[in-house]
Amino acid sequence: MGVERVSVVPIIDVTKCDGCGECVDACHANAVEIVNGKAVVVRPGDCDYCTDCESLCPKGAISCPLEIVVLEKPVARGLRR
Ligand code: SF4
Ligand code: SF4
Repeated sequence: MGVERVSVVPIIDVTKCDGCGECVDACHANAVEIVNGKAVVVRPGDCDYCTDCESLCPKGAISCPLEIVVLEKPVARGLRR
């Protein structure tokens, strides 16, 4: 409570992706599919940014470069005390 996480979805470099599908198999959220031979985060709302796909992609085609954590005002005030 008090913390809202706003996460971006993984970035997939289509020039590196060969469509092997390992990220699809690994994604516990079923957020990734192969579309026209390339991985696509087709259900970004289901992605919890676990970064598993980034870790296992054999081509290094997936990156999860950042996570934004937004603190609600009451928590932020508490941290300043
Ligand atoms: S694991 Fe990597 S190379 Fe394989 S489909 Fe996913 S993004 Fe593409
Ligand atoms: S970061 Fe995790 S939940 Fe999101 S697409 Fe990759 S494996 Fe799936």
